[in-house]
Amino acid sequence: MPGATAQTLRPFLWRAEQLFSDREIVSRTHEGIVRYDYEEYADRVAQLASALDEIGVEEGDRVGTFCWNHHRHFETYFGIPNMGAQLHTINPLLPDHHIEYIVENADDQVLFVDQSLLPKLEGPAQSDAFDGVKQFVVMGSEVPETSLDPVVDYESFIEDHSTEYDWPDVDEEAPAGMCYTSGTTGDPKGVEYTQQMLWAHTMATLPESGIGIGSDEVVMPVVPMFHVNAWGMPFSTTAAGAKHVYPGPSPEPADLANLIAEEGVTLTAGVPTVWLGLLEYAKENEVDLSSLERIIIGGSAAPKSLIKTFDQQYDVEVVHAWGMTEMAPIGTVAHLKPEMQDWPAEKRYEKQAKQGLLVPGLEMKVIDENGEEVPHNGEDFGELWVRGPWVTTEYFERPEANEEDFVEDDDGTWLKTGDVVNVDEDGYVQIVDRAKDVIKSGGEWISSVELENALMAHDDVAEATVIGIPHERWQERPVAFVVPTGGADTETLQEDLLDAIKAEYPKWWVPDDVVYIEEVPKTATGKFNKKVLRDQYGEDTDLVKGKAPEEAAPEGDDD
Ligand code: AMP
Repeated sequence: MPGATAQTLRPFLWRAEQLFSDREIVSRTHEGIVRYDYEEYADRVAQLASALDEIGVEEGDRVGTFCWNHHRHFETYFGIPNMGAQLHTINPLLPDHHIEYIVENADDQVLFVDQSLLPKLEGPAQSDAFDGVKQFVVMGSEVPETSLDPVVDYESFIEDHSTEYDWPDVDEEAPAGMCYTSGTTGDPKGVEYTQQMLWAHTMATLPESGIGIGSDEVVMPVVPMFHVNAWGMPFSTTAAGAKHVYPGPSPEPADLANLIAEEGVTLTAGVPTVWLGLLEYAKENEVDLSSLERIIIGGSAAPKSLIKTFDQQYDVEVVHAWGMTEMAPIGTVAHLKPEMQDWPAEKRYEKQAKQGLLVPGLEMKVIDENGEEVPHNGEDFGELWVRGPWVTTEYFERPEANEEDFVEDDDGTWLKTGDVVNVDEDGYVQIVDRAKDVIKSGGEWISSVELENALMAHDDVAEATVIGIPHERWQERPVAFVVPTGGADTETLQEDLLDAIKAEYPKWWVPDDVVYIEEVPKTATGKFNKKVLRDQYGEDTDLVKGKAPEEAAPEGDDD
């Protein structure tokens, strides 16, 4: 029995091990399907902690992971925080210079890395930013050819260690997790999750007003574990004592369909792009989704058509949720109130396509341009501000960003979300715009400001701006608007610019088009007025036509 009465993660695992010891954890890996139970899981978590202890990892140290969703990554989820260290999940889809910044800023001591992601890590790992990393651990039972050093494979790393570990009583204020967000301009910003924040988030997501997870469920998080802890699902699934299914490296729709059918998945979660892909696959192939009851969709807006197709063709409920890295991440969930259950289908889908109702435990307000709170009438809009036990009140070592994104008032600190919303009479929040200068493609951020700077670095570009154009599969794709200089060769400039971006950024950051304009529209204060461009070109899907979806895929960049 854990000694502490503090709000920490350890009791969740302890309970699962005691009460549901033979519930399964199933994982798709490079080496095929791995299957074991909570008892073995807890043993391996203890072995991992002992191994980290032996190489000198101490309470308060940060340990990074550069991994997809699988059982070994899940072992780090409890192993690292339970020993009082901090689990830092790193997004491998980021440009190299962001990865360097993140590892140096977090001062990671050890890095766990997937085999398929080795080539992606090897470049940044050459830089001084990685000097503090004293051990690389490759997720598997062997080490492929690599320049990482010193390096060991995960199974050798843990194998000789005891399955008993003398867990410390960790303070609930101790940082347990960390995730960087690239949601706004400049370098990525670190968000630390204390033990208490992760505990509170888990407790909020367990009941029906959150996600609602029962011990009889089979839960498959498709949302990456490097994305805000896969929306906390590895923790909440453990707290519920439910079965876990992890889809492994770069899962294709066929892999997801197979796991759902073979493991009897009841609940899954991911960004809209993933489910649009699964539906496409299901058109051409025989799939059995009969076990599936609910899909949590968030990260970008869940299209109404997606909600409808899952309901009508598969009898699967889409639970649309909104959240942020800064909120660990869940903020609102579009559950229908009891009186809405009997509404006509179309009216229900309308409601479900909104971002939803605030999760119990949080507070929110919507502030307009004049600093006034807007009424809940479904029309007036403003920026959404939130606060609560699992909402951060600062970024890691970034005072200038804190000033922009947080507001102190008499009784606490509010997070300014950067999402522009209205709230209807029933209390459902709906995102109508984004104050942040970013594009979200397939659930991953692209910084429009970084692309603009890269474009404007070209001698033949007078001004450039990049906006997100709606895209059926990726929700948004970047399109560049460029004002060429007088002497520019406009025959070759577009190609030159795209080549320059390809050389520096992952291929899914490359704009789908470069459009010449005479002038970038400006606001009264001289800033680029992207709203005007968005209004003008936002519906112009021709701009992103003819682009093979594979080329636009964030997940296409992983190996
Ligand atoms: P991240 O920190 O990467 O999780 O991104 C958080 C941001 O993603 C939010 O501030 C929103 O702009 C966007 N987002 C998250 N969930 C949704 C949703 N359900 N609908 C629309 N946008 C969303």
